Formats: sequence, structure tokens, C-alpha cells
Amino acid sequence: MSIQFKTIKELSSMLRSKEISNHELTKETFNLIESYKHLNAFITLNKERALIKASELDKNSSELSLSGIPIAQKDLFVTKDLRTTCGSNMLSNFIPPYSATVIENLEAAGCISIGKTNMDEFAMGSSNETSFYGNVLNPWGQNLVPGGSSGGSAAAVAAGIVSAATGTDTGGSIRQPASLCGITGIKPTYGRISRWGMVAFASSLDQAGPMARTAEDCAILMNEMCSHDPKDTTSLDEDVPDFTKGIDAPIKGLKIGIVKEFDLSKLDSNVVKVFEDSKKHYESLGVEFVEVSLPNINLSVPTYYVVAPAECSSNLSRFDGVRYGNRCDDPKDLEDLYIRSRSEGFGDEVKRRILIGSYVLSAGFYDAYYKKAQQVRRLIKNDFDNAFEKVDLIMSPTTRGAAFEAGSMSDPIEMYLEDLFTVPANLAGLPGISIPNGHVDNKPLGLQLIANSLQESLLFNVAHNFQMTTDWHLKTPSLEAK
Ligand code: GLN
Repeated sequence: MSIQFKTIKELSSMLRSKEISNHELTKETFNLIESYKHLNAFITLNKERALIKASELDKNSSELSLSGIPIAQKDLFVTKDLRTTCGSNMLSNFIPPYSATVIENLEAAGCISIGKTNMDEFAMGSSNETSFYGNVLNPWGQNLVPGGSSGGSAAAVAAGIVSAATGTDTGGSIRQPASLCGITGIKPTYGRISRWGMVAFASSLDQAGPMARTAEDCAILMNEMCSHDPKDTTSLDEDVPDFTKGIDAPIKGLKIGIVKEFDLSKLDSNVVKVFEDSKKHYESLGVEFVEVSLPNINLSVPTYYVVAPAECSSNLSRFDGVRYGNRCDDPKDLEDLYIRSRSEGFGDEVKRRILIGSYVLSAGFYDAYYKKAQQVRRLIKNDFDNAFEKVDLIMSPTTRGAAFEAGSMSDPIEMYLEDLFTVPANLAGLPGISIPNGHVDNKPLGLQLIANSLQESLLFNVAHNFQMTTDWHLKTPSLEAK
């Protein structure tokens, strides 16, 4: 029997009814990884340990919510005794002595960590082309990017290899690849999920989240991923609700805001049509649309590309060839050791960000750039606060368009604009979900819904209502095994 393209819910019921054993499911998952190796979705596999855990579950069955479910882990989460590269040459030999809280939580819920997924180097990118381990291909096309930075996770789910994967989202890295690969992904409220054991990129923006085929599966994963973690000082000490509860409640009477300042007329007319069709669909479910103004929202991309590089330049200073990471051969002296270890270890995009970050934090430019960006960030948050007095949610396309060809976007600024619709939620710390809502030229597109802080349950409810009444999330690419 095939396990490809199955959801967590479906796989769990196959396991419970003994239609398949845990060992067979895990083994078959590795077969699928092998069949779709050309997608380059994985950097490191966890085969031996995964099969042992699966066999143990066959001997001692468990009632845990993710029991026996193979999950692909983004290679940004540290995993005890399993190589964690973060997509970089800098960490190509790094074997962590402990696991991230997210990994511990998911494994404690019975899941089987199948391997580490490919990603943009240190999560910097929107196309998965900055990975030291080569780019990832989108299962929906010959030479299409899967989006980034969680592109390996998105491609593995979209190809039906796994039902679920972990991702992280600093400026869109869960939602944008979810959109381009036709799957569902949510960035929770900042602090909802512990950042302990996530390799830091921009600490005030980084947030982990689930990627799966359906909103319901994402809710099942979130139930396990969230926890208050004293090891992360920004972890929220909030009750974790059962995110699946009330997921199918009707949404009649809900008010959704459409952002006046997002000029959709600049997008391809087919992309706009997909968005308008989704609006009509929600209207048929009883939703009312209201225009809202977020006057500063178009400053989000420039603001993000000051704040994120600033934090990255500081966070990545730990990779010096002494404490962590690549060390060059035969250094002449300490300075040579630093310079060559970092020059060899980091790729171009990471170096670009470190340079920008060091510049905007430097004594002469701090006030003009970094401080200003932080002030604008506050204005953007205020805009959202005002909007949420009028509406329950805010809706937009997730991306400006569908997946593009690998190698076709050489201008970094163009690439940064890929994040136009996703970065505002990170700057404001708000939860946002992307769900598949249509196709253009046989390539998937995503719809983004943003909620007020801690309102993930509402996002799941609204997304699930869409998925109960449409079938975009059920579409699968026609893939050839190579
Ligand atoms: N594309 C954005 C960037 O390159 C976002 C990345 C992310 O969310 N990790 O910074």
C-alpha cells in the first residue's frame, strides 16, 4: 500500500489498524527519499536510529499523538548526535551534544525524526539556492525553486515523502515555501515555540512552526511543538490550547481585512484572480471583507533588511573557527585563523548580510539605520493593533507569484521583495498561515491569513474551513522517480 501523500491523520489510522507496521512505514519513507533524491530535499538522514525506533514502537505500541509518524526536521534544529549543518559549510562537521526543544517535544510525542532537510544557508534566502549542499528542487516543476529557507521541508512534504516537517520563519521561510510548493505552513506568534536549539539567525524574528498538507495536521503538530521553555527567555508562558479543538466550527460573520496599501494591481492578473476567487469562496462561507489601512506596511521589507542583518551579524560572530565551526588549515596567526575560517565557512549571501548588519550597527550609522528601523517596526506593530480593532484577521496572497526557475533571480533586492507579504507578521510578532488556494500554469499559489497574537486557533479554524470546502491542498504534483 502506498504511503505517499498521506496526512498524519491518515498514517496514524493506518498504524492503529495495523494496515502497516511502524517499521514498514519508516522503511517506505526512506524508499521515497531514495526515489526522489534528485529533489535534494535532505542533507543528512537518520536511517539507522529511525528504523530502530520504529521497530521498538512495533513491539511496544504507544497512544502518543505522533506515534510512529516520520517527520523531516529542518537542518536548523540541533539534533543530538546527528549532524546539524544549517545549510552551511561552516557547520559541515557539527554533531550537536543536545537536541532543540522542538525536536525533544516532537520525539516525546512519538514521532520518528527521519532526517535533516536542506535549507538556505543559515536560513537566509527565499529560493533555497544559497545552501552549501546545493539547491532544492520544487516537486511541481522541472527546474523550479521550492522557495526558502525551509525549502527542503516544503519539497519533502509536497513530494509526499513525509506527511509533515518542521520549518522556521524569520521573514517568511515557512509560509513562502509552503505557498510555492502547494502545502500548508504556519508561523506561530513570536515566543509560542521555544527557540532553544535553533541555530540563531535574527533572534527577535526567528520562530519555528509546522509544515504539512493540511491545517488540521499543522494543528496536531503545534499541540506538541509548543511549550513554555525556561531555557529560552523569550518563550511565552501561556497555556497551550488544543489547536484541533473547534477547528471545524463555522466561520460565518467573521471579518477579514484586506490591506489597502498592498497594491495587487502590480501582480500578474492570474495571481490576482486566484486571490479574488478565494475571497469569493470565503464570502460564500459567510465571511465579510473590510478594507483596512496599515500606513507603514510598505516599509516592512526595508525595515526587515536592516533588523535581520543586524541581528545576524551579531549572532554569527560566534562562528570564529575557535568556539564553533569550520577552522582553516595552518593559520599563520589568530587574525588569519578568523579571516580564513569565516571566509571559507560562509557563502556569499551570509557574507552580504554580515556586512550590511555590521554597517547598520556601526557607531556612525546606528541612529540612521538600526534605531530608525526599530522605530518603524513599532509603527508597523501599531498599524496591526489598529487594524485588529476592526477585523478578526488580515488576508493577502502569500507570495507575489508562483515558483520561479532556479537561477533566474540574480538581483538580491528582487529576491528580498519575495518577502513583501510575509515579513510584516514577523516584524509585529504575529501568527500567519499559508494555505494552498489555486494554481497558475500548473504551479501552486498560497493564501496568507494573519491573526492577532496567540490567535493560532482562529487561523486553523479559518484555514480548515477553506480546506473542508476546496481541494487545492489535495492536489499533488506528477512526479517521476529518478
Ligand atoms: N527570505 C527571508 C530572508 O532571506 C526570510 C528568511 C527566513 O524566514 N528565514 O531573510
